[in-house]
Amino acid sequence: MAYLNENYLKLQAGYFFPEIARRVREFCEANPEAAKRLIRCGIGDVTEPLPRAAVEAMKRAVEELGHSESFRGYGPEQGYEFLRSIIAQHDYRDRNIEIADDEIFISDGSKCDCGYILDILGDQNKVAVPDPVYPVYVDTNVMAGHTGQGTKDGGYEGILYLPCTAENDFVPEPPKEHVDLVYLCFPNNPTGAVASRGQLAQWVEYAHAHEAILLFDAAYESYISDPEIPHSIFEIPGARECAIELCSFSKNGGFTGVRCGFTVMSNSVLARTENGRRLPLHPLWQRRWSTKSNSVSYPVQRGAEALYSQEGHKQVRALIDHYMGNAKLLRGAAADAELKAFGGVNAPYIWVETPDGLTSWEMFDRMLRELNVVITPGAGFGAQGEGYFRLSAFNSRENAEEVARRLKNL
Ligand SMILES: *Cc1c(COP(=O)(O)O)cnc(C)c1O
Repeated sequence: MAYLNENYLKLQAGYFFPEIARRVREFCEANPEAAKRLIRCGIGDVTEPLPRAAVEAMKRAVEELGHSESFRGYGPEQGYEFLRSIIAQHDYRDRNIEIADDEIFISDGSKCDCGYILDILGDQNKVAVPDPVYPVYVDTNVMAGHTGQGTKDGGYEGILYLPCTAENDFVPEPPKEHVDLVYLCFPNNPTGAVASRGQLAQWVEYAHAHEAILLFDAAYESYISDPEIPHSIFEIPGARECAIELCSFSKNGGFTGVRCGFTVMSNSVLARTENGRRLPLHPLWQRRWSTKSNSVSYPVQRGAEALYSQEGHKQVRALIDHYMGNAKLLRGAAADAELKAFGGVNAPYIWVETPDGLTSWEMFDRMLRELNVVITPGAGFGAQGEGYFRLSAFNSRENAEEVARRLKNL
């Protein structure tokens, strides 16, 4: 009989989102009247339709494929030049960041890239993640066999957890000990925290001192409104030598269902072999895409390109303004309800302390029962998430206003 990958058997917490769904279903079955009032305010998915510019570009691209003069088959495995160059120009070189077109690698999204990137990194690396955390960073390492068994508090042996608490404004400091790989995500999901230039500079300094690599998730970069907050890790001097950036069109262009993102892999990031040779990762990443992928569909890449056009850019701004308008309403309502709320200023998530010492699941049940609002319990994101819950600004304005009204009755 064939053997299975036993690392998958180590995974816990896979019950988290199903458990939310189960509790909501049970509540709705028992309370059909309340079920009609139910509002989901916990989802990490966008709710508003695609920007018109992207829709039109994708329609044109599909039409091109339907005619022999303009038909295209396989594209370049790393993505079309038209998209790689517009990204490198607009997101980097226009902001005085030195990134070449061939340092951009197009993908079907950054969740996927979190898994793919482990293909080119060794199994011996010591990994650090923030706590609370986007579970994908941890679970992909578990699947790849980079951890020991699960622990009682929902973590895994072999991973270094960096506590993100109200004391450090949910931005972890570099650890005293050595690690090889560090996952960072700013603006943060789930806490909504952002890192200052100085805080990111400390991480780049740590990475240089320890010859570590920073995996920087910038999925929420476009939600930053504070001009002092960096949008990219590459705004920090020295990051070209130690950072890989993960970007996505999911949260700015609303591409969660369309699927497109990219990684920025500079030519200057080195990693070592068992026998001590120091080699660039870029050729390995290039090769990984050539061998394992045929990139993202042509219409999708045209849709992503259109987000950079003048009208595309305006439409993306309008989407973000819409969600951040919701965030402002929810933050204000949480404050009025005398809840302690964080985030929601440069990020579409609000991280709220549970009142009266409730656990995050107790708070989930209370919000469901009393307000008929679904939130995300913080404990699902890690041990340090206990005692918090996440409110999401991804909603219609009507729903956000209604949730804000109901919070007053808490
Ligand atoms: C939504 C999200 C992404 C984007 O994932 P895609 O696969 O590109 O849709 C990446 N990182 C975090 C932390 C997210 O919340």
